[in-house]
Amino acid sequence: MFRNKEITVTYNPQVCINAEHCARELSHVFRQAVIPWINLEADTTANIISQIKKCPSGALQFSYHKKQAS
Ligand code: SF4
Repeated sequence: MFRNKEITVTYNPQVCINAEHCARELSHVFRQAVIPWINLEADTTANIISQIKKCPSGALQFSYHKKQAS
């Protein structure tokens, strides 16, 4: 589980199909060979959410800490 001020991000390795969209397209956040491999401080929350939504397997998920006003 990874958190910044706004969101919590979870990663399920059993679901990940290693398509590597995350590591290729936002490599400063989703880092290979670095622990912890997700650095939520490296980009804006909006950019991170946009990338998470592209994860084809659903291995990456996020939730807001507080309910967003609609
Ligand atoms: S984009 Fe999703 S499926 Fe692809 S490597 Fe990242 S977590 Fe795994």
